[in-house]
Amino acid sequence: MSAQRARIAEAMLGMPGAFTAEDLHRRVIEVTPGIGLATVYRALAAMQESGAIATVGDRHGSTLLARCERHDHHHHLVCTECGSVVGIDCPLGDAALISAERAGHLVTRHEITLYGLCAICRARADGDA
Ligand SMILES: [Zn+2]
Ligand SMILES: [Zn+2]
Ligand SMILES: [Zn+2]
Repeated sequence: MSAQRARIAEAMLGMPGAFTAEDLHRRVIEVTPGIGLATVYRALAAMQESGAIATVGDRHGSTLLARCERHDHHHHLVCTECGSVVGIDCPLGDAALISAERAGHLVTRHEITLYGLCAICRARADGDA
C-alpha cells in the first residue's frame, strides 16, 4: 500500500501542470500497471489534506489538481493552453469583504482561480499572429 502511494507521489511530481485523477492514473499505470483509480483517488485525497496539492478548477466535470509549494494563503493562475500553474497572492481586497459585510454576510472561506495564458503560451500566440 505505501509502496503504491510512493509510486503515485512520484508520478504526481512528474505532472507538468494541472491534472485530473484520471491523468495521473494513466501516468501511474505506465510505470506500475495494476494500481487502481480508487487507490489514486485515495492518495490524492491524502496529498490534498497535507497541502501538497491544491484544487485549481475542473475539466469536463473532473477536479483539476496541481502541485502546490506555497503554504501561505494564496491562489492559482492556470494556463488554459498548457495547464501550467503558478501561485499568486490573494486578489481579494477589503472592498469585497466590506460589501459582503454590508449585505450582512460573514465571509469564512473563499476560492479563487484565475485562468489565462502563461508567458510561454503568450509568446507562442504572438508568434503565430
Ligand atoms: Zn498553490
Ligand atoms: Zn501555457
Ligand atoms: Zn484569498
